[in-house]
Amino acid sequence: MKKIRTVLGDIAPKDLGTTMIHEHVTADLSEAMKGTWGLFPQVSSEMLSLETRNFKFLQSGAWSISPDAMDPSGDDYVDFIVRELEEYKELGGKAMCECSVYGLMGRPYEDLVEISKKSDIHLVCGVGMYWDVVRPVKFKNMGEVELKALFESDLDNGFGDSGVRPGFLKATFSGLTEDGLPLPGELDVFRACACISAERGMPLMFHINMPPWGGDKIAELAKRAVSMGVDPGNLLFCHVFSLVNHPAGEQETILDVIKNHGQRFSIEPHKKLLDLGVSISFDNFGNMATAVSELGTGSLVNDYTTVSAIYELLKLGYGGQIMLGHDFVCKICAKAYGGYGYTRVPTFVRDTLGQLGYADAYERMVVQNPAEFLAF
Ligand SMILES: [Zn+2]
Repeated sequence: MKKIRTVLGDIAPKDLGTTMIHEHVTADLSEAMKGTWGLFPQVSSEMLSLETRNFKFLQSGAWSISPDAMDPSGDDYVDFIVRELEEYKELGGKAMCECSVYGLMGRPYEDLVEISKKSDIHLVCGVGMYWDVVRPVKFKNMGEVELKALFESDLDNGFGDSGVRPGFLKATFSGLTEDGLPLPGELDVFRACACISAERGMPLMFHINMPPWGGDKIAELAKRAVSMGVDPGNLLFCHVFSLVNHPAGEQETILDVIKNHGQRFSIEPHKKLLDLGVSISFDNFGNMATAVSELGTGSLVNDYTTVSAIYELLKLGYGGQIMLGHDFVCKICAKAYGGYGYTRVPTFVRDTLGQLGYADAYERMVVQNPAEFLAF
């Protein structure tokens, strides 16, 4: 009998309920974004403080250089997140995946237990490694074999003394080498995770940074995992919203957006992935990454365009392989700071797809698909 492993123990897949497949409750991105602020000398610290007058600026991409917006420390943090989860629960939310792995985890694993108990939300957390640049020092020299042993120990014994055991694996890809290949350290994490997934039949998520990753390169990665014995049904590619306007992984400037009268639109890379039998998640609804980032050169796809992509894919019959989420990754995503919190999917996305005649397909994407994907 398959089970889903939450931070409080195993549950039956039928008991999972409405699930956001890619969220964070304890992420700390400050290490990953360290140094980025220096690229924007025109931005003063006053512009980055977590105050009402700065919310719009922070939501438009500047959150990533704001130490305040990314800071999950503080004694009141757990209660802050529990309050954010309240509204999700009122909207029918029952569960979510906490995708903060090593290098991204901003709080002790014990906090996941407390957050889950206090909020009455099932949390399923992952094991794996975030970007190579933020790999914690104690894991720096680990190759594929050592990483596999580390992840297996966490799966069997839990993280430290917390009693928390992960329910899925996660590998992350940031940039590419000059030869267009994945970074060697990230490839080691990928192989370790793929081996375990193949051996244990466990769910495996891939985080891809797009650009520079385009549709064809991602499809190659899927094929590579499958060739290692991973069941395509156990594979999920996160953050594919970016492929809608960056299908080939090419960077686009704000001027490109203006010259092109808005955003490009493509679902071809998504179809290629889905035809391999893997799942994908549109998981940035309502968060700051859906606004055009005027500070940098990138443009990001908005909620309306993302729903258009889902609508087109549903019409083509791919509803069994799509999952949803918000990727709540810093405080500026919170309702308390002017964001949508964890509510954009169970309001805007649910209502829009419902009006388009896809209410059942929505339910499938947030209930049945996550339960099937997470069960092992
Ligand atoms: Zn994330």
